[in-house]
Amino acid sequence: MIVVLKENSNKEQLSNLVDWLKSMNIEIQFCNGVHQTVMGLLGDTAKIDIDLIKALEIVEEVMRVQEPYKSANRKFHPLDSVFKVGNTTVGGGSFTLIAGPCSVESEEQICTVAKQVKDAGATMLRGGAFKPRTSPYAFQGLRKEGINLLLEAKKETGLPIVTEIMDISHIDLFADVDVIQVGARNMQNFELLKELGKTNKPILLKRGLSSTVDELLMSAEYIMAGGNEQVILCERGIRTFETVTRNTLDLSAIPALKAASHLPIIIDPSHATGKSKFVPAMSCAATAAGADGLIIEVHNDPSHALCDGPQSLTPADFKKLAKQVNEIHNLVSKF
Ligand code: PEP
Ligand code: MN
Repeated sequence: MIVVLKENSNKEQLSNLVDWLKSMNIEIQFCNGVHQTVMGLLGDTAKIDIDLIKALEIVEEVMRVQEPYKSANRKFHPLDSVFKVGNTTVGGGSFTLIAGPCSVESEEQICTVAKQVKDAGATMLRGGAFKPRTSPYAFQGLRKEGINLLLEAKKETGLPIVTEIMDISHIDLFADVDVIQVGARNMQNFELLKELGKTNKPILLKRGLSSTVDELLMSAEYIMAGGNEQVILCERGIRTFETVTRNTLDLSAIPALKAASHLPIIIDPSHATGKSKFVPAMSCAATAAGADGLIIEVHNDPSHALCDGPQSLTPADFKKLAKQVNEIHNLVSKF
């Protein structure tokens, strides 16, 4: 349930309302906007007499919320979420450009790509250290060593780093990682999500291969329910009957998620298409549709990449694309 308060509402009446709600075991989340304060009521709100609250002098409006997600819900938090990651800002009009290889392969590879993507305008560096591969015989990532190499690249470029966690027992290795990625295959690993909810790190939560928009939001809710509000949603293509692309990029998830949630939304056109030649068109389309950023695979030598070479851009192609998407973002943010 949402209670919208009148501007400059009487403090004593507000405190009486809060005490009354608390006496019914209702948890209250306040969201203070410039002109309005919104109270989000969590718990068994069925027992609350809505007309009784509506009748209070300090109350502007009361609404019941149907959606099962509360913390991620825009109704509880009308303004876009914005958070700092290192020296960059995610959400609220900023455009986040995360770039780097699918996997960290060597110090030379990650540091070279890091410098090239920074020069092209990337705001964060990506690179997988723990890789969720379909085959157990495929390259599994450099694991701990991969994280150390990412930290080396961060030291050289100043770019915040994004890398995937697959098992909560590895959490200590992520102490200096700026953004922890939860991959598509782990979107509904609820125990992992609960533990990440206890951390204070931004989480890049990728949509599962066959998950709905509502399921993605419920997974975000798992993290937020633990107290970690810094969730970045990521659409990375879903399973459909189509085989011309690796997955099908669900562009309509952007306006759907924007309407439903205040969380920033990042698009991954690399895993969505699986083909580097399709990445620029889908990056531009996602930016025009209102995404808060992109995560793009870039490799210094795509044909020899240990993972996802066919969908990786060269640094030169990424540079061209970065310029285009920044121009599109500037244009659409004027609408
Ligand atoms: C990745 O980002 O390298 C990755 C494995 O992505 P996803 O979980 O979307 O498949
Ligand atoms: Mn990949």
